[in-house]
Amino acid sequence: MNSPIANTAIPFDNSYARELPGFYAACQPASVPSPVLLFFNRGLAEELRLGLDGRDEAALANLFSGNTLPEGAEPIAQAYAGHQFGQFNPQLGDGRALLIGEVIDRHGRRRDIALKGSGRTPFSRRGDGKAAVGPMLREVLIGEAMHALGIPTTRALAVVATGEPVQRERTLPGAILTRVAASHLRVGTFQYFWAHGTPEMVRRLADYAIARHYPELLATEERYLGFLRAVAERQAALIARWMHAGFIHGVMNTDNMGIPGETIDFGPCAFMEAYDPRAVFSSIDEMGRYAYEEQPRIARWNLARLAETLLPLLAEDEGHAIALATGVIDDFVARYQQHWLAGLRAKLGLSGQVANGDAADTALGESWLDLLQAQRVDYTLAWRRLADAAAGNEAPLRALFAGQPGLDRWLQRWRERCAAEDAAAGEGSPAAARAERMRRVNPWLIPRNHRVEEALAAASDEGELAPFEQLLNALRRPYDEDLALARYAEPAPGAFMAEFRTFCGT
Ligand code: AMP
Ligand code: MG
Repeated sequence: MNSPIANTAIPFDNSYARELPGFYAACQPASVPSPVLLFFNRGLAEELRLGLDGRDEAALANLFSGNTLPEGAEPIAQAYAGHQFGQFNPQLGDGRALLIGEVIDRHGRRRDIALKGSGRTPFSRRGDGKAAVGPMLREVLIGEAMHALGIPTTRALAVVATGEPVQRERTLPGAILTRVAASHLRVGTFQYFWAHGTPEMVRRLADYAIARHYPELLATEERYLGFLRAVAERQAALIARWMHAGFIHGVMNTDNMGIPGETIDFGPCAFMEAYDPRAVFSSIDEMGRYAYEEQPRIARWNLARLAETLLPLLAEDEGHAIALATGVIDDFVARYQQHWLAGLRAKLGLSGQVANGDAADTALGESWLDLLQAQRVDYTLAWRRLADAAAGNEAPLRALFAGQPGLDRWLQRWRERCAAEDAAAGEGSPAAARAERMRRVNPWLIPRNHRVEEALAAASDEGELAPFEQLLNALRRPYDEDLALARYAEPAPGAFMAEFRTFCGT
């Protein structure tokens, strides 16, 4: 049965449904008993030009529960495969999500609008197709935090409580998330048509992805190799941003790596508190495959899986195709390193305009991280207090460290490096300007794990949304040190972090 159509027209232009028949299953959302709007992202709705201004909450709840789809919606479940923890699963797909349509936003960018938790699809396998309030609001908090930090990400448009219980380890209130993405094309989408389809289908998918995300390649000769290189480049930039923010995705399976280069799928993700390169919070990641420090290596591994699917498009001779692909994958390491170093310099307040070169700055950054690790210093606050130190106020930084000798030596090196740069530039009062620059790239406020859990528990267990809303507001201005929000900037207690686990697919 089709869902009733609301008398709301959204100017959809559904290129995926139109251009790629055979790459998805048309499917209607399940209807839900009593939809209640928990979250609506007005700013994003305006950016998407949805024209929903006059709608009341009940109408929005109906719309974003899938009960009354807007005119022009064409709900489809997309097919994809994926390597999950290194094991190839040829048959995943949208088991609890539906792409309802695409719009062109105010900046001329094509964006997907999708429901998550909207019921079973032909790809559901044994799953119920549902989602729960807590994890969907978690996706709002982390996605909006990432966005405010300036990190490419999918975003939440709405969350609706369905009024229906979902059965997990315990019974939880059900919810549907509306997610906005540059697209939902994944490495796993290519793997699906590589495993099940024909090289021709992979070519059609690649052509679609190129036209949508990398149109500058359309006029080039080796466009598929260029495509692989361009996807790798965006991943190199993205993972460097994650690393500098202390973000741990938690489930970097190939179906969770997006072709447009956005962060996608906020399941067991978390932000690091005390610096530990081995940090991993996901309850199911027992081997630490997706630990913080593994992320660049895993991204490269995932890109190699994408490359495999593209081989027939790269060259007729397989050996030659493999050589071309290997060149791009090997180059990823250097591309990532370059993005990481640029980000590191910004965090250290350095411009890079000094002759001592990349190796010295990399070593300076690494010994800073060694110090943080040795003394288990809070990652976010350490960087932020380094900005204070740049302005001449060292006490807050020193207060984060138990012992001082290593810190003194390191600060001395850093000051010399800053001085060398300032002498070359001949600036008047570089200290204040440096501190200001550093405060624009070193956030004061990240989603602290205990605050996130507290807000979600209140929403999910008690239907109390105020803590969620207050936290969300705080996360929208991560670079402003607003003392009224100090409780959100405090690290989680050590005892909390020792027990802290995140969960997948709930
Ligand atoms: P994820 O862990 O969210 O990346 O999901 C991995 C795969 O499992 C995807 O194909 C999802 O659509 C599917 N999946 C996760 N949860 C459910 C569910 N409750 N019902 C049906 N499919 C699900
Ligand atoms: Mg996923």
